[in-house]
Amino acid sequence: CGIVGYTGKKQAAQFLLDGLATLEYRGYDSAGVEVLSPDGELHGVKCAGRVSILADRCKTANLTGTTGIAHTRWATHGAPTDKNAHPHLDCTGRIAIVHNGIIENYRELRSYLARNGHTFASDTDSEVVAHLVEDAWAGPCKGDLVAAVSNAVSRLEGSWALAVVCADAPGQIVVARNGSPLVVASTPEGAYAASDVTPLASVTSHVIQLENGQIARLEESGKVTVYDSEGTTVEHPSTFDIDWD
Ligand code: GLU
Repeated sequence: CGIVGYTGKKQAAQFLLDGLATLEYRGYDSAGVEVLSPDGELHGVKCAGRVSILADRCKTANLTGTTGIAHTRWATHGAPTDKNAHPHLDCTGRIAIVHNGIIENYRELRSYLARNGHTFASDTDSEVVAHLVEDAWAGPCKGDLVAAVSNAVSRLEGSWALAVVCADAPGQIVVARNGSPLVVASTPEGAYAASDVTPLASVTSHVIQLENGQIARLEESGKVTVYDSEGTTVEHPSTFDIDWD
């Protein structure tokens, strides 16, 4: 299973699909991609099966855009079907998330959210995250996707690598990590996130390793800012250099 994200100057979709292909060795049963288009809407394709099937379906979809997230799924909750593939959307269709890991308290969160009017499109544990971000974004955290994701993850128990895009926060991706692996990178062409360094081979040799509990904002300028769970900026995140030879 794996996550790839990109926001920057280049078109996102091809990099995301290539990145998923490099993560295939981790194992998966479904794959999906979501791109924020210049028309201000999220456009996604997802399906059970191989990344090559997803790539074929993407040829006939309009995935123009320079900010996007992608996922390979290893199902833990919900069968490996098209609807359970990630990304998952909130009720407004303006927030999309991908998740690796397990949300242990998803049953409680799902019934709480359902009582508050949320409807669910999948059987996964992960989908609650999209709806928690939706509530935080609509409520106390409007305009700040880091605050909204931080608010959402403060309610989660379990393990996660998360990447979140919001059509009303264009040109950024917010990622969070607890237990499941996630690295991010800042380059002049944009900012990247991935489960491990393999998708980044052609783009950088300098990588930031997110620690458990950290959240990062990736901006299309290439800027990456890492925050701790209290929302304080981490001045010296843990970095490493890769010798691709
Ligand atoms: N628990 C989530 C699901 O079943 C994510 C699985 C994964 O790590 O790919 O959809």
